[in-house]
Amino acid sequence: KNQPLSDLEIASQAVIKPITEIANAAGIPEDALEQYGRYKAKIDPLKITAQGEDAKVVLVSAISPTPAGEGKSTVTVGLADALHQLNKKVMVALREPSLGPVMGVKGGATGGGYAQVVPMEDINLHFTGDLHAITTANNALSAFIDNHIHQGNALNIDPRRIIWKRVMDLNDRALRKVVVGLGGPVQGMPREDGFDITVASEIMAVFCLATSIEDLRERIASIVVGYTFEREPVFVRDLQVEGALTLLLKDAFKPNLVQTLEGTPAIIHGGPFANIAHGCNSIMATQTARKLADIVVTEAGFGSDLGAEKFMNIKARKAGFKPSAVVIVATIRALKMHGGVPKTALVDENVNALLQGIENLAKHVDTVRTFGVEPIIALNRFITDSEAELEAVLNWCQENQVRIARTNVWEEGGKGGLALAEQVLAVLEEENNFSPLYDVTESIEEKVRTIVQKVYGGKDVQFTDQAKKQIAQIEKFGWDSLPVCMAKTQYSLSDQPSLLGRPEGFTITIREVIPKLGAGFLVCLTGDIMTMPGLPKTPAALRMNVDNEGHAVGLF
Ligand code: ADP
Repeated sequence: KNQPLSDLEIASQAVIKPITEIANAAGIPEDALEQYGRYKAKIDPLKITAQGEDAKVVLVSAISPTPAGEGKSTVTVGLADALHQLNKKVMVALREPSLGPVMGVKGGATGGGYAQVVPMEDINLHFTGDLHAITTANNALSAFIDNHIHQGNALNIDPRRIIWKRVMDLNDRALRKVVVGLGGPVQGMPREDGFDITVASEIMAVFCLATSIEDLRERIASIVVGYTFEREPVFVRDLQVEGALTLLLKDAFKPNLVQTLEGTPAIIHGGPFANIAHGCNSIMATQTARKLADIVVTEAGFGSDLGAEKFMNIKARKAGFKPSAVVIVATIRALKMHGGVPKTALVDENVNALLQGIENLAKHVDTVRTFGVEPIIALNRFITDSEAELEAVLNWCQENQVRIARTNVWEEGGKGGLALAEQVLAVLEEENNFSPLYDVTESIEEKVRTIVQKVYGGKDVQFTDQAKKQIAQIEKFGWDSLPVCMAKTQYSLSDQPSLLGRPEGFTITIREVIPKLGAGFLVCLTGDIMTMPGLPKTPAALRMNVDNEGHAVGLF
């Protein structure tokens, strides 16, 4: 059999419509469209007026990811295309890719096969420059802090207690801890600093959770950058730079419009990771799409323990909407890995391992139900799946009364997602009892314990001495009535990446609790999760090139 075409080859052969046509069909007025070339545009959200009721939101989540790949973005795009084929007014809302995973190991974030958003080359590289703007705003703040200290430090900032870090949109472990200001008095005050990846920046979180320019400015002003020698918090508003930082983001803040291979309108905007940040595209994007369409299909990163949990407890709560349906993407390959099969043996039929690994899926189904929403499993088909394996999954779903649809969008585009679309439409007809899992007024310990027990399926949570001190300080300042944003490995429901399947009886350790008052949440670091990833031994970059006509080569 012929080698299947790569994602990039399929995308390059596609006939893409001018973005004006896509915008027109989506009901976006001409004066709301700011074109970035022929196939990309920004939408001015202030020029979009709602036509009737806001769209229902379909959230796509997944089982705990494995190196076998699940295809969450692929299914998200394919589902939107299927709904489009059924003549529904639908838009897809995705996150912007980060160059960290693009150059590293995970790959792009534009879907795959015949379920992709295009132009994928642009979207996966610099797109419309939003990540640049966010990086720059973040680093401008670092520069303002260092300059403030250099110019006399009127605010009495303790250089050892600055919590604001610099960022870069790459995986660069060498920059995790650095010393800045070396070289004598003219170069500033030496101090320890460090870099996070841009998608973990609080600016990214603020960007994704702000509901207007005013809100964006107010949230930036509320960011805590560090503490004084008297241990009092220092806010961005004390430095008086919230205006400048908001200015740097003014164009980036407008959602980006592109299209799927089948011409379904897609908004791609904001891109925090779901393991070290809140994992959802911007509220501006989702709400703009909701005004334009009847159904918005969106995704949240990694499994339902991460992206979906934060979608429900942070994003939906902030934006004031609810997910009307949740799709859980699973593959037979990944379920076999959860059942103990190594990556090299995934092509062999193994129903026993599959049935063991399905426990992971079972937990994600239970979790979504805990939020009051009935999930639909999308079984993303790979050519290596055997009939016996397919049957085993279908039987399990029947026994456990879970909705399931087989999807083949990677091979067939929207057509391969029609069965899933029908199931989603059926669920959209029903009202659900969605509610976030905790009240923000509960104590930090209680909120974290709720997530650990109800979402991860763990026994309990413990806090290190450092975390306890930080919690005491957060309570002292009255910052504790905020949702928590867990930073946890995506591979396991626990904080140990190697515990696959459905681990039980484990205790989660909270290492640090960091206030992010601009974003409006408290980050809880578990395990040894890093906010600046490293590159693997063989990064994806080694396969990449550009041909002499200027086209990308080897970009997946
Ligand atoms: P996720 O969003 O879960 O990270 P993606 O949708 O980005 O996953 O897909 C990851 C990779 O897997 C992409 O390169 C895509 O082409 C590939 N892929 C997805 N679904 C399938 C499938 N059914 N068969 C083969 N490859 C697939």
